[in-house]
Amino acid sequence: MSALTIRNVSKHYGPLPVLKDINLEIDSGEFTILVGPSGCGKSTLLNIISGLDTASEGMIEIGGRPMNGVAAKDRNIAMVFQSYALYPSMTVRRNMTFGMECRKVPKQQQAEILDRVARLLQIEALLDRKPSQLSGGQRQRVAMGRALVRDPLLFLFDEPLSNLDAKLRVEMRMEIKRLHQRLGSTIVYVTHDQIEAMTLASRIAVMHQGVVQQFADPDTVYNRPANLFVARFMGAPP
Ligand code: ADP
Ligand code: MG
Repeated sequence: MSALTIRNVSKHYGPLPVLKDINLEIDSGEFTILVGPSGCGKSTLLNIISGLDTASEGMIEIGGRPMNGVAAKDRNIAMVFQSYALYPSMTVRRNMTFGMECRKVPKQQQAEILDRVARLLQIEALLDRKPSQLSGGQRQRVAMGRALVRDPLLFLFDEPLSNLDAKLRVEMRMEIKRLHQRLGSTIVYVTHDQIEAMTLASRIAVMHQGVVQQFADPDTVYNRPANLFVARFMGAPP
């Protein structure tokens, strides 16, 4: 089943084109990576999927449902950003349950979900801390936890690891991979890091100047690049 369809999406700011006729069909359970150099339009595309931004042309469907006019909060998605965007005055526990409170999830169920996700991410011991009392890696875990408690149709990640040091980045990458294998979630993940793309993706969309240059599995992108840009960017010999 198609979890996400992006159909003829274009975006321009005034006369400046940022996305040009993007078409992608993403299946349920896929780990899709949007990769490309800084400024190629990755975040803009992610924000259009989430409803934080609107396309100039084209449309988005999530779970087969057209998203025209559907607000971000009603799209059944969860986003994780590079800046973790945790609420600084709330404990980890409250950061994770706040969204459920807003959606009026019963208290008992909130506690069960919190327990399960905290165990999954190994952050049980951190629940009573404030974000300022956490390391960068722990904050990123909490940000992921906050997304996981939503159990959304679609996870959107925008360069979630780029603020972490190299060692932690590799650890968290493997953790995200394990989580995906375990939960089977549908993920669209933005990065400018080719290795991250090669390690995580079931399919990679390579972007350049607002155009998807190739959309294929990692092996194909690496060994049979569609053009010189893809070959150079993904690091395979031309
Ligand atoms: P990426 O995430 O791939 O680095 P972005 O999607 O953030 O790229 O940006 C793509 C292009 O759109 C960039 O050239 C950026 O300067 C431009 N852009 C992004 N947001 C705006 C905006 N609000 N107004 C004008 N230009 C923008
Ligand atoms: Mg970006």
